[in-house]
Amino acid sequence: MEDKLVRATAKDNNIRIIASSTTNLVNKAVKIHKCYPTAAAALGRMLTAGSLMGAMLKSQADSLTLRISGGGDAHGIIVTSYADAHVKGYIGNPMANLPPNNKGKLDVGGIIGTNGNLTVTRDMGLKEPYSSQVPIQTGEIGDDLAYYFTVSEQTPSAVALGVLVNVDLSIKSSGGFIIQMMPGADSGLSDLLTYRLQEMPPISTMIDNKKDIYEVLDDIFNDMDLKILDELTPSYQCDCSRERVEKAFISIGSKDLEEIYNEGKSEELKCNFCNKSYIFTHEQIGEILKNAEKDL
Ligand SMILES: [Zn+2]
Repeated sequence: MEDKLVRATAKDNNIRIIASSTTNLVNKAVKIHKCYPTAAAALGRMLTAGSLMGAMLKSQADSLTLRISGGGDAHGIIVTSYADAHVKGYIGNPMANLPPNNKGKLDVGGIIGTNGNLTVTRDMGLKEPYSSQVPIQTGEIGDDLAYYFTVSEQTPSAVALGVLVNVDLSIKSSGGFIIQMMPGADSGLSDLLTYRLQEMPPISTMIDNKKDIYEVLDDIFNDMDLKILDELTPSYQCDCSRERVEKAFISIGSKDLEEIYNEGKSEELKCNFCNKSYIFTHEQIGEILKNAEKDL
């Protein structure tokens, strides 16, 4: 089934909904990064969150970066997303893996850790990107994002993110949603929603049972005047280029560049997001060094 992201409202715009199925895009990412099961679930949840929050950006030129780093074996995860719902990301340690937690689920909170922060950075083309940060609550990512929306954006939100991993390490199903109560919405409505969300199976199970993302929304909002606004196709894409990698290479500073140059060898740099390799020969490093010194 194709990945889909849907924006919708319910109850006369009192509820804002963004939901997506991300099985294919997460599968692509965990193949690139060769993730073990727990790492795959953690990266998958972050990428799904990224696609949802990317679709909440106001302008096509904006981008959003999600970072979670809690001192656990995952060594942090970074995801960047865009308004058209394409995402890219990586996990510090793709081999992070733990036995299932006491609910029998992949222990994402265990590999993330709770000693650190979740950071959301929005780049809206201004001089400085806008960043805000909350302490990690459980490391399960969905909980942490719900906390972020409530504390940092004063918007009570329910966030569900779920990933099922096959024994061959491919992705069985993945998806998520963010449901937000708009200011002034009646508290009875929010109680009813909370109750429904508690009663429903995990989103990954619903998608695994071949439920279309529209059917998932119908299950929750069937009597709440659900209005679909639009649909996007989320995807995993990297936009790296030789120029960009060269810029990052220059940013290590001319002293380190000189050291590398003096070793007389070529240097291979890999893009963190897609693993594409870029080779800089000894002569090219010399050229970069010359230009870098000119700029100083
Ligand atoms: Zn790349």
